[in-house]
Amino acid sequence: MRVLEKDKAIEAQPDFIDQLCELSGEDVRKCYQCGKCTAGCPVLEEMDLTPSQVMRAAQCGLRDLVLDSRTIWCCAGCQTCAARCPKGLDLCHVMKALTSLAYAEGRTKAAPEIAAFHQSFMDTVGVLGRNYEIGMVGLLKLRTHKFFDDIALGMKLFAKGKLNLFPEYVKGSAEVRRLIKEGLKVEGASAPAPSAPNHGGEAPK
Ligand code: SF4
Ligand code: SF4
Repeated sequence: MRVLEKDKAIEAQPDFIDQLCELSGEDVRKCYQCGKCTAGCPVLEEMDLTPSQVMRAAQCGLRDLVLDSRTIWCCAGCQTCAARCPKGLDLCHVMKALTSLAYAEGRTKAAPEIAAFHQSFMDTVGVLGRNYEIGMVGLLKLRTHKFFDDIALGMKLFAKGKLNLFPEYVKGSAEVRRLIKEGLKVEGASAPAPSAPNHGGEAPK
């Protein structure tokens, strides 16, 4: 769990809540901090802010705090919180909107490996129109430099016929590529920092 520095000023952006409600389709203002989402979250230990803290920080306009948090990348989209929330809020939508914003702005430092996984998946689908696991893992390894992690698991999957050796293309992959490019444009996102990775959904070279 992250402990905030006591004397560090955090700038609030009051219009952030409107942007988030619009992007996620959820009225984040309705959250009254009962904490049921946090109590049921199965990946809480991996997070630096709890799900309810993310909601409160967003209500307070703490854009940087939320977008730079690890929590938004850790969310597994399991919907436990959505099922428990007495206000009917679907936090998966909120987390997805936040990762889209963070991704568009190249703010991936809190969880670089999860972001690298996202980018490798999108690159693969952007080229082929569908996923190709071996290609995606290859891209991921190039990005993370962890070449030998999960080799045993990969061999097991391969032996069971779960991994195709060769990629398959779908008809209309150009259309899929265009949709990805469109989908990655996020209204209200700031320009990525010059050093930020390219998340534009371009085909890998
Ligand atoms: S959807 Fe995300 S935030 Fe909600 S319980 Fe599952 S992992 Fe936690
Ligand atoms: S369960 Fe719903 S109302 Fe309660 S803290 Fe979480 S988001 Fe807010």
